[in-house]
Amino acid sequence: MNNDRSKELFGEAARRIPGGVNSPVRAFRTVGGTPIYIDRARGSRFVDADGNEFVDFCNSWGPLILGHGHPKVLEAVHSAAERGLSYGACHETEVTFARTVMEAFPEYDKVRAVSSGTEAVMTALRMARGFTGRDMIVKFEGGYHGHFDGLLVKAGSGLATFSMADSKGVPDDIAKTTLVAQLDDEASVEALFQRHPNNIAAVVIEPMPANNGLLLQRPEFLRFLREITRKHGSLLVFDEVISGFRLKFGGFGQMLGIRPDLVTLGKIIGGGMPVGAIVGPANIMDVLSPVGPVYQAGTLSGNPVSLAAGVATLKVLRDENPYPELSRMGELFVKVLSECGLPTARAVNMGSVVWLYADESPFPRDPASISPNVSRRFNDIYWRLTRRGFYLPPSGLEVLFISTAHTQEEVSSLARAVGEELGQVA
Ligand SMILES: *Cc1c(COP(=O)(O)O)cnc(C)c1O
Repeated sequence: MNNDRSKELFGEAARRIPGGVNSPVRAFRTVGGTPIYIDRARGSRFVDADGNEFVDFCNSWGPLILGHGHPKVLEAVHSAAERGLSYGACHETEVTFARTVMEAFPEYDKVRAVSSGTEAVMTALRMARGFTGRDMIVKFEGGYHGHFDGLLVKAGSGLATFSMADSKGVPDDIAKTTLVAQLDDEASVEALFQRHPNNIAAVVIEPMPANNGLLLQRPEFLRFLREITRKHGSLLVFDEVISGFRLKFGGFGQMLGIRPDLVTLGKIIGGGMPVGAIVGPANIMDVLSPVGPVYQAGTLSGNPVSLAAGVATLKVLRDENPYPELSRMGELFVKVLSECGLPTARAVNMGSVVWLYADESPFPRDPASISPNVSRRFNDIYWRLTRRGFYLPPSGLEVLFISTAHTQEEVSSLARAVGEELGQVA
């Protein structure tokens, strides 16, 4: 595989951009080598700067559930752009966006749009603090909720990849307001509520933790979180930036019949453009300025082009219901991989979210139970798969995303390739 042009671009990038990248995991440090530079993408595939074509299973880390450049999304973006890139003023697409999101969350009343998932969670937690008058937040080890100060404690995603328990630059006084509990461990949560009985504003969790492998939780554990937060007057925040609209037209909480106090969204609701949102009941949502005392604002919040991409994506999901087919593809991947007969050729999926778990140990529910073999074997096969035309997120602790643009053949050929390459390196 020729990647001269990518190497040349990365050479200049490394001089002008810290680490050569605008988001750390793109630097390929875990898998070794240097990044592939993308030139263009359409459907399930993209072409790099050297003309190599790949089937893309990263899908921009989740937003592109319809694949790259879905015609309806592109048409909405073009037509919105023609009418102006940003107004800093009210426009109809904000109303359409709110109506469309709330159709999927009829149990809540209001939504506010922001520009990223990070902003959505940051705002939701500020709202929880404003609403309860309390300071502490409980999160879970390995849960990733964006890169703002308070939540960069024992986080997943790039932080898991780099084994950083924390980030420099976060004042102790802020880190101290973040309490860390363990996934799949009721007692760890109870202990925190015992120690801080009247000062926990919120418990925030990815109900389908997918930033540190795919750590599927017992539904009873999530129900327990609902009960204990209610009992103590704390809010339960489901961070559904990945899971929102990924498994159904709506949230993961709805699938389990659990109703958190606030839901944060991002990724899919922007259709590939920068968007995040907070959804909740009127009494909590109205703590936000200009009604209430909790401030949140944004020059580009509710951006007309981003929201147009989001609305177009959501309407396709609502009208075409691709979810059963997406789930079948996730299951197909797991099945084809297991059929290759290698005991380490394993994967776990939730709908169209798939995690390669190249080990014989049980699928983990918490970060400490993840076998170190998983990342090691992933790194061993990463470039072999790339050379065969598959682009995967460059870390074994990240999940693969299947989109409606993928064919069954693409999904099963990746599964076969993974099995073959694991056999080669074993
Ligand atoms: C991606 C992600 C975020 C952060 O969203 P950005 O748009 O990258 O700021 C927050 N929470 C979860 C669960 C995520 O997966």
